[in-house]
Amino acid sequence: MAKKIIFKKLNLIAAAFFTLTLSTAYQPITPPKQEGKSSLNQVRTIVLDAGHGGKDPGARGSKTTEKVIALQVALKLGEKIKKDLPGVKVIYTRSSDVFIDLYKRPDIANKAKADLFISIHCNSANGSKRVRGRNGKYYSQTVRRPTVRGTETFVLGFNRMGKQDVAIRENAAILFEENYEENYGGFDPKDPSSMIVFQLLKTQYRRESIRLGSYMQDEYVRTQRNNRGVQELSLAVLKTAGMPAVLTEIGFISSPQEETYMMSNAGQTEIVTSLFNAIKTYKTSVER
Ligand SMILES: [Zn+2]
Repeated sequence: MAKKIIFKKLNLIAAAFFTLTLSTAYQPITPPKQEGKSSLNQVRTIVLDAGHGGKDPGARGSKTTEKVIALQVALKLGEKIKKDLPGVKVIYTRSSDVFIDLYKRPDIANKAKADLFISIHCNSANGSKRVRGRNGKYYSQTVRRPTVRGTETFVLGFNRMGKQDVAIRENAAILFEENYEENYGGFDPKDPSSMIVFQLLKTQYRRESIRLGSYMQDEYVRTQRNNRGVQELSLAVLKTAGMPAVLTEIGFISSPQEETYMMSNAGQTEIVTSLFNAIKTYKTSVER
């Protein structure tokens, strides 16, 4: 069945908004004749994005690299979703050790009309600082912080949401496909006034992203992981996703303890279970 992205909730809010603010100039958006489902009230397709890959190793640990762990965890999570959430389609941005441009990753999700975009990464607390040598010249020195541990999940910060307009606008064809005129009482998604709908969508995607992120952090905590919370960041990989999207840092590869954990079968199973439970909780809550 074609996905008609005409959300019950969105319609109510949009209709109310239009009625309240623009009733003299615009017709309120009328509820669709046929009810459709959207990213905001269903989870049918999930894009799993294993960070980095190919020539880009990501952060380096003492035994492995971020790209390796991220791929292993993404593939295991995908397998679990396919097995335990029947009916949910899983799409990987990469399923092998290849390099994929950052912008292409959310693009894959947009084209697949995915309902969730989940990017999996490992953190690193190691950095470098500029120090002055005896000869007066500056050089960079690696700063190791092996004791920093824990998980955190990022959502797109408000300041970068402008970029999302493009994705949402491109997806407008999806949003309003199939008799949108009929469904929306002449509403034209290409009309500037439809930006209000994009604003509503962005706000909702953000809210849902934060919710999914919180579920993930809750699950990590259940397995005694250090909780660094849900945070906002201007991340290129999230900025053009036209759906709820998170980037989760499953642990610090710069911590020997967490590197070993993330490399181990038991550790990966625990992380995959946490992410799976969070997705399942999210799915149940939006599909209620
Ligand atoms: Zn990364």
